Amino acid sequence: MTVAPDRIAWLQGSAFRCDPEPEAPERVYRLALLGPPGVGKGTQAELLCQHLGTCHLSTGDVFRAAFTGACTLSPALAAAQDTMRRGELVPDDVVILLVRERSRCLRCRGGFLLDGFPRTVVQARALDAILAEQGIALDGVISYHLPLDAIVARLGGRRICPQCKAVYHVTSHPPRQEGICDHCGTALVRREDDCPEAIRVRMQAYEADTCPLIDYYQAAGKLISIPASGTPEEILLRTLAALGVPEVQRSGTGRA
Ligand code: AMP
Repeated sequence: MTVAPDRIAWLQGSAFRCDPEPEAPERVYRLALLGPPGVGKGTQAELLCQHLGTCHLSTGDVFRAAFTGACTLSPALAAAQDTMRRGELVPDDVVILLVRERSRCLRCRGGFLLDGFPRTVVQARALDAILAEQGIALDGVISYHLPLDAIVARLGGRRICPQCKAVYHVTSHPPRQEGICDHCGTALVRREDDCPEAIRVRMQAYEADTCPLIDYYQAAGKLISIPASGTPEEILLRTLAALGVPEVQRSGTGRA
């Protein structure tokens, strides 16, 4: 079994090299994921990366890694920490700088799956510019959607691994041993911003800032809209089919 890269170049900055270096898959995918909090984006990102060989580039993970003391906080990142705790969006210029500093990851031979960026049209334009500078472009933007009551139920049971960032759900995607990460054995936690007040603020932020992105990518002909109902495996199969992944490569999507 191939070991997934540790994503250290993304989490801690381009001075670091991922271990192991990502392998070049047969087809390189460069994708971004959209969807409201709780729609199951994190789980899909993990599954899609396993199937496509892409690297999971989550801006939320970069902030969380920075705030756990893995690196020294710049004044902008320290301010971002308070913003994030309240469930609000970090200012565009801070996030864009953070991604620009990691643009080497966008050229990665394994391809990438951006998760949580872009979140606003300003960020989407900045991403287009950064990618154009690198001579590459997005293959598609996957937008997951689900009714609000289903989202609220999902968020209540979400648990994450603070070590390897794997995402679980107490009922729909439980770890093999309750409260313990399948991948690295770390005790699972509830995210700080999964408390009811922060969830409400994040939903409002999504409605106001991120929905216009759907129009932006629709107009650019990049939008791939996927219903996020059903099990993680069903959603994954739907997504792989929409990406045109050959059926033979879609096998083995069931969990052991
Ligand atoms: P996520 O893990 O993607 O849900 O992100 C968690 C939090 O990090 C968000 O609620 C924001 O406070 C912050 N954040 C992550 N990515 C972005 C972004 N692209 N723009 C603004 N804030 C972000």
